[in-house]
Amino acid sequence: MPDTVFRDVEVDGQIVDVHVRDATVVAVGDVTPAPGAEVVEGHGGALLPGLHDHHLHLLAMAAAASSVDCGVHAGDPGGLAAALRSAPGTWVRAVGYHERTTGRLDREVLDAWVPDRPVRVQHRSGALWMLNSPALALVDHVLDHSPDVERDAAGRPTGRLWRYDTRLRPALPHSTPDLAPVGRTLLSYGITGVTDATPDLDADAAALIADGALPQQLLLLGVPDVLPLPPGLRSGPYKLHLRDHNLPPLGELTDKIAALHSRGRAVAVHCVTAESLLLTVAALRAAGPLPGDRIEHASVVLPGVAADMARLGVAVVTQPGFVYERGDDYLATVEPGELPYLYPYRSLLDSGLRVAPSSDGPHASCDPWRTIAAADRITVGGSVLGPAERVGRARVLAGYLSSAEDPGGAVRRVCPGTRADLCLLHVPLREALAAAPANPVRLTMTAGCST
Ligand SMILES: [Zn+2]
Repeated sequence: MPDTVFRDVEVDGQIVDVHVRDATVVAVGDVTPAPGAEVVEGHGGALLPGLHDHHLHLLAMAAAASSVDCGVHAGDPGGLAAALRSAPGTWVRAVGYHERTTGRLDREVLDAWVPDRPVRVQHRSGALWMLNSPALALVDHVLDHSPDVERDAAGRPTGRLWRYDTRLRPALPHSTPDLAPVGRTLLSYGITGVTDATPDLDADAAALIADGALPQQLLLLGVPDVLPLPPGLRSGPYKLHLRDHNLPPLGELTDKIAALHSRGRAVAVHCVTAESLLLTVAALRAAGPLPGDRIEHASVVLPGVAADMARLGVAVVTQPGFVYERGDDYLATVEPGELPYLYPYRSLLDSGLRVAPSSDGPHASCDPWRTIAAADRITVGGSVLGPAERVGRARVLAGYLSSAEDPGGAVRRVCPGTRADLCLLHVPLREALAAAPANPVRLTMTAGCST
């Protein structure tokens, strides 16, 4: 691989040249290109470390590409029913459902829409699948007797399956999700690393992700410690997905966290309600925190709780994109008393917490420049949600530039000795941030290879 020299690029506010050899940045300053080196004229555009998305779901992102998007039929049940009926394939898969579309969805509603083909619809939260009767008949052998399989008074499944991805997979037609388009999309935004936050990843799922040969560096939260990982994959803090409608007793959660910590494994706890966050903070306090512990979402943080979280030293991985994409729904449906505490950012930083942004793709756009702009707290409909929680765009970018292991911590820099995961912008950084959500990325390099 020839050397690459980026000439006249902006690094830390200075115009410099950057020399890349093999997979490493070897010099920053005035560089005389060696014969044969590929020279990229930067024209003053910023050269950043590649961005890291701290929470997304790779296999779900690949599957979303071939699914009906319920979001585009919001408020139009007839349109959604027609889209499901005309979807290609044996099984119909739909994603992004919200009750605002047409209320509660179960087998009876789905049977009325599509009686003759198996249909499964994923709730926008990612935690719930809703199946019609033909689909339930095909997956009957994997339905267990846990509360995750909702049943009616007669004990018959209603079609609503909670956190059932892993248990459902063996009963679904085998298909290999194509991760290549996901990798390319992420590269187009300058993303060179991602943290997959899918809970309960088994060996098959890890193999599917490894086989995807993504150019990004990958950290997986959902793999148990006992699982040997294919090359190229690393495991991070262990993802604990709390059942929001059926939270575990404090003692049970404390014991689970303590057991993971005793093996040296930090935890990443999914907290989307005020109650689940309070429970998690209490359990972490009882178990004793471990560096690396993190809270996913922290969707509702009531006054005083951020200080408790800061004392535990946890990091928060938040999703400003939800404020933009779902903020109008929140304004219409969330208790007015809770609205000021939704998806906080500024108050968490002020409490001394490390905070990193993420997309939660496919549940929101994986475009980090859109997420950066979303820190303005303006919704799709133009309303403002929680203006006191606004943070500067550079602060959000800094979160994308923190490492996979330390979300919201130190910002990675372009300097000699670092891996050549880089992102060249068309313009200087200040201009790029001001223009967000416009995508300013001209070229992305992973391990010295550019695209
Ligand atoms: Zn998620």
